[in-house]
Amino acid sequence: MSNKTPVTSPFLPPLEEFVPYLQQIWDNKWLTNNGPFHQQLEAELAAYLGVEHLSLFANGTLALVTALQALRIGGEVITTPYTFAATSHSLLWNGIKPVFVDIDPSTCNLDPDRIEEAITPATTAILPVHCYGIPCNVERIERIADTYGLKVIYDAAHAFGVRQNGSSILQHGDLSILSFHATKVFNTFEGGAIVCPDAKIKQRIDYLKNFGFANEVTIVAPGINGKMNEVSAAMGLLQLRHIDAALGARATIFQRYAKGLAEIPSLKLIHPPSDVAWNHAYCPVLVSEDYPLSRDELYELLKSQDILARRYFYPLISSFPMYRGLPSAAPARLAHAAHIAEQIICLPIFPTIAPEEVGRVIGILHQPLTKQASSQ
Ligand SMILES: *Cc1c(COP(=O)(O)O)cnc(C)c1O
Repeated sequence: MSNKTPVTSPFLPPLEEFVPYLQQIWDNKWLTNNGPFHQQLEAELAAYLGVEHLSLFANGTLALVTALQALRIGGEVITTPYTFAATSHSLLWNGIKPVFVDIDPSTCNLDPDRIEEAITPATTAILPVHCYGIPCNVERIERIADTYGLKVIYDAAHAFGVRQNGSSILQHGDLSILSFHATKVFNTFEGGAIVCPDAKIKQRIDYLKNFGFANEVTIVAPGINGKMNEVSAAMGLLQLRHIDAALGARATIFQRYAKGLAEIPSLKLIHPPSDVAWNHAYCPVLVSEDYPLSRDELYELLKSQDILARRYFYPLISSFPMYRGLPSAAPARLAHAAHIAEQIICLPIFPTIAPEEVGRVIGILHQPLTKQASSQ
């Protein structure tokens, strides 16, 4: 293990608490295919998150690809360039054309004011992302979708446990997908889920993630293998026992950063409005032109002192070779996303980071200002 501080570190419960789960798997020899831990985790997660139904997956990307299949999405889908590659890659894997729309700089999410002008006769759906776990403007997006007869699939990979006005943000849209990757707030080593509003769509998704098998001899759809295994499901059950403490620790760390950064107006901490019960999945900061260093210079300064901050999300997806030829990928059309991608830096935040380490990061952020003051 290096003594560098990563941007995130997976939450691992005490190993001795995991052993009884493994013992049970070894005893019953049920490793995958809707095993007992899988069934239990689907029920416990739906209850914890405050959603009707949920179908577990091997990872969030397979959940995304399958969600698009489940709703039979084709043609063009409106999405954001300011996200992780998996969001729009899931469209290409389904032969769907991504149409990028700029973000609202105040939320880093798809700008509802720009969606309608991107709709064409080929548009079938909207694929927004609750970036950093900050909720999209779900009411506006729903109204547009209803007006034009579009489906909405939320990439909620960052939004585990996020609530707005007391109810789960995962209840919006036709489907939402979650990721339980090691770097996410809640992890099952690798994993993911589709949040489903009703039992009928969950049934279809459950078939699709198991090759399309409806029973031993009946295949009803060209499905894929997207199933979560029992070891991951067991990890999820154990994580759930610790999730409230982990979320609480994240909130405390974020408050510490907020306090430390309040004295540096040229570094702007991004966070949702106060009606959101947030998960503090990330600690995103905008490095404005008034700060003595550019974002990349600050990134290098932190790195030189063993702080591995990350530039999420830079570069923009729309600049990748497989997307940049699309008319909607023209940088001039994505001005807000391009600007934020140049200014963003995400600071280390995870439940086990030491308070002194957060203090050290804040101290480094102050260094260029002190230097500037003393040279004037
Ligand atoms: C992590 C992530 C995914 C992919 O999830 P995996 O479980 O890693 O496949 C998709 N979208 C976003 C926005 C993500 O951050």
